[in-house]
Amino acid sequence: MKKIITLILFLTLMVYNSCSVKQTKNTPKYIFLFIGDGMGLSHVALTDAVTDHRLTMLQFPTNGAISTFAQDRYITDSAAAGTALATGEKTSCGTISQDSSHTRSIPTMAEMAKQKGMKVGIVTSVSIDHATPASFYAHQKNRSEYYDIAVQMASSNFDYFGGGFAKGVGEKYGPGDVKEKMVSAGYKIITKRDELSSNGTEKIWAYNHTTDYSQSLYYEIDRPEDHISLSEFTKFGIDHLTNDKGFFMMVEGGRIDWASHGNDGASMVQDLIEFDRSIAEAVRFYKLHPEETLIIVTADHETGGLAMGNALTGYQSSYKLLNYQKLSQDFFSDKVASWKKEKKVNYEMAMDSIKFYFGLGDKELNPEFELIDYENDQLKNAFNYTMTGKSAYGDYESYKRYGGYDPFTMTAIQVLNTKAGISWPTFAHTAYPVPVFAIGNGNQEFNGYYDNTDLAKKIIKIAGL
Ligand SMILES: [Zn+2]
Repeated sequence: MKKIITLILFLTLMVYNSCSVKQTKNTPKYIFLFIGDGMGLSHVALTDAVTDHRLTMLQFPTNGAISTFAQDRYITDSAAAGTALATGEKTSCGTISQDSSHTRSIPTMAEMAKQKGMKVGIVTSVSIDHATPASFYAHQKNRSEYYDIAVQMASSNFDYFGGGFAKGVGEKYGPGDVKEKMVSAGYKIITKRDELSSNGTEKIWAYNHTTDYSQSLYYEIDRPEDHISLSEFTKFGIDHLTNDKGFFMMVEGGRIDWASHGNDGASMVQDLIEFDRSIAEAVRFYKLHPEETLIIVTADHETGGLAMGNALTGYQSSYKLLNYQKLSQDFFSDKVASWKKEKKVNYEMAMDSIKFYFGLGDKELNPEFELIDYENDQLKNAFNYTMTGKSAYGDYESYKRYGGYDPFTMTAIQVLNTKAGISWPTFAHTAYPVPVFAIGNGNQEFNGYYDNTDLAKKIIKIAGL
């Protein structure tokens, strides 16, 4: 009997203790910050309209919006915006986590988390030394000093870098010994899917065995089967970083921005879907640790001024036509460049290619793909411009139409975008506010309209950094 009473007392104490631990534990220890580079609300809404399922981020209980202006310019770049999100301070465009006079380094939330004993991971679909990821581990007056940025990865002592390779390995930027520096700082290098494993204590830099010209992941629309995807890098990061003291992980969908610069709606949508899959990985983790996890999804700025409508289609929309595009603007542009060199492809052959890769002109595939004279004229003019350099348009008009991209590729993309019912007024960033989605412990704090610096301050405060 005495034993039973002791046991009951013991169990009661256990229950009481675990309750009181939960009640006092107001600080989430697993912090995810997802940044869709260039991802405006219309990017999210368009992607949601193209897919058959509701995007994960749109299921979060808290929605907000943030202003994105830089200290010296209303329309920001990714360096100033990344700095604001990483540190809670405004700086000038081009600057990575320093003040605008470049005399002071500003501590980042990732560094604060590391200092606190948490593990830290930085994941991106672009090169790991690009402005957004760099803003979390580097301090540099100029974002294009890729070597100087990349070597700061090695000194960061962060536990995980995943996604892109480094631009700073190129001779253009320095001695090219970034990988060697990472290895001597104790980083294990992983470049293949079946090598993704961790003993939980090592530091890891994971990227794909081949990358594109920019040392980034391929666009999701072009990704070879054997390439690790952004969501796989994220999932592995979660497994690798999970520990009792918690972690901070920043995941960037970096090529949402690049596709938007090129006004390539279909590639943007595929990269955003993959970004959302990465968020779904975090949500899976959150469901196992709801009290201890906070997930924030936002963007550094909007790119392209994406509109879900255009002057020609008016009130009509066929957003799902974007699903027919088979490759990115980059990949198609490479083909066009080789046609130009080899001089064997005439206009009819080029149009067959457009039909195959974009569906344009293929009425059997979808009746909406029938080309009208206006579209045929646009394509023909752009083809001649690309192949001969002769354009019917003056310089300003050409730039406005093609943005410096290959005219034929750009026109094919624009014709598809127009048929789908979208349009882009610019090839650059815009000053549009960007969305915030939050779930987990502390999510209510992210409700409302505020500045990007305030978003960082909220995270720093809630996570006790
Ligand atoms: Zn950009």
